[in-house]
Amino acid sequence: MDISSIIQFVIDLVAVLLLALGIKGLSKVRSARSANRLAAFAMLLSVIGLISYYLGTTGISIQSWSWIILGTILGGSLGGILARKVPMTSMPETVALFNGCGGMSSLLVALGVALFPNNVDSFDFFRSFIEIVSISISIFVGAITFSGSIVAMAKLQGWLSTPSWTQSKIRHLINIVFGIISLIAFIDLIQFSSASSIWLLVISSTLLGIGVTLPIGGADMPVVISLLNSYSGIAAASAGFVVGSQLLIVAGAMVGAAGLILTQVMCKGMNRSLISVLFGGTLSAKASNSNDKGEYTNITSCSIEECALTLEAANKVIIVPGYGLAVAQAQHTLREVTKILELNNIEVSYAIHPVAGRMPGHMNVLLAEADVPYEQLKEMDIINPDFPATDVVLVLGANDVVNPQAKNDETSPLYGMPVLDVQEARSVFVIKRGMSAGYSGIKNDLFDLPNTSMVFGDAKKVLSELITELRELGVGVK
Ligand code: NAP
Repeated sequence: MDISSIIQFVIDLVAVLLLALGIKGLSKVRSARSANRLAAFAMLLSVIGLISYYLGTTGISIQSWSWIILGTILGGSLGGILARKVPMTSMPETVALFNGCGGMSSLLVALGVALFPNNVDSFDFFRSFIEIVSISISIFVGAITFSGSIVAMAKLQGWLSTPSWTQSKIRHLINIVFGIISLIAFIDLIQFSSASSIWLLVISSTLLGIGVTLPIGGADMPVVISLLNSYSGIAAASAGFVVGSQLLIVAGAMVGAAGLILTQVMCKGMNRSLISVLFGGTLSAKASNSNDKGEYTNITSCSIEECALTLEAANKVIIVPGYGLAVAQAQHTLREVTKILELNNIEVSYAIHPVAGRMPGHMNVLLAEADVPYEQLKEMDIINPDFPATDVVLVLGANDVVNPQAKNDETSPLYGMPVLDVQEARSVFVIKRGMSAGYSGIKNDLFDLPNTSMVFGDAKKVLSELITELRELGVGVK
């Protein structure tokens, strides 16, 4: 082992340890920000390790240095600006774009090594079976991840709609054809390493990524993004074998496994199987076949003043945030309301459903942005037993995640989805703009219950007026 290999090994080892610590820290909201920085630093360290290796073994020309520096500045600035500017509601699109970039990087690395093997001569990648398999996997998975993520991003952004022909069975046939061509090119690449098989694999797997993602409904996209995230990890791990980076292998494997687990958790939380998300009809199609078209028969609408009066008399209040809160960007106004209630010695907590919103952790991120204390965020299983002893529940722009049909109605498309038992509380106020359905497109039985009152209006506007009403009642004024 020469000195540059030893240096790279030590740097990689430190980077792997820092990355593992970073990932552990991400599991707690409080430490997530610093953990994210630690993981980013670990990746930077690994890049330095790899460059120092090449510097020691092959030497890096001035021209190559300028490309490396230019790429780092350009990519770093673009990523930094994008991450700072993106609104919270556009996070799924951003994650999709970043996944696509990850897939494209692995694809380009593998392509570079496959097409110009002499540039990294010291490894002589084509000699070993494992290395050519890694290149093939990187190209295949990287191309699927790239094209699939870009389609997902475009659909979420509203730039691309689902073409009607993609809802027919013919799409399965087209995807099977792309899959078979990819398989043939994959095997050919491993056997002969020819340029034609490389390009055939790139084209067929890119088309396969588009073909699988295009038919999926916009609302199912977060599950697909989570799956593509897992693919980007697999592509990165195989790219790690290609360039000989231990950190890339470890990080890629972690991302691959984490993405798969998250996909599973989301499917469970939405009461859908991955197969039905990827190959089945959309949930709204399923909803339209069910018998849940019933009209509301017992809606009680109330004023913001009545809501404020009930809150004034409460001892324990639970807030249920949902997608509508994110759309209204009402998290800061909500925090103002809860601060006022707390000044009146009212106990406040927030019930977080695992799939509330449109991406995993959506509500945690939203509320953290408004400086809601982490201790007040309670996961569904923890808070569900608390509802019977709760005076008031404020449901803010949430719908499916509080629908009792999920527990009571076996014919409901939501049946089996774990939900928040808000109906057990003394009074429930649902703040939303009208009677439209949530993501599932079905009626919500909660709205018909006698202890539920609807407060119609945009979440931010209603909460602002609630602040005025509470102040007029002297709540929170010491
Ligand atoms: P939801 O069921 O989609 O309901 C959101 C409600 O917000 C709507 O009924 C809407 O009613 C209301 N709303 C919209 N804009 C509003 C505004 N400005 N002010 C006040 N209300 C507003 O949301 P959810 O309860 O959070 O449930 C999430 C759903 O998304 C679940 O079905 C879940 O399976 C699905 N999903 C989640 C993920 C994930 O990873 N988290 C991924 C994919 C799908 P109005 O129009 O009447 O106001």
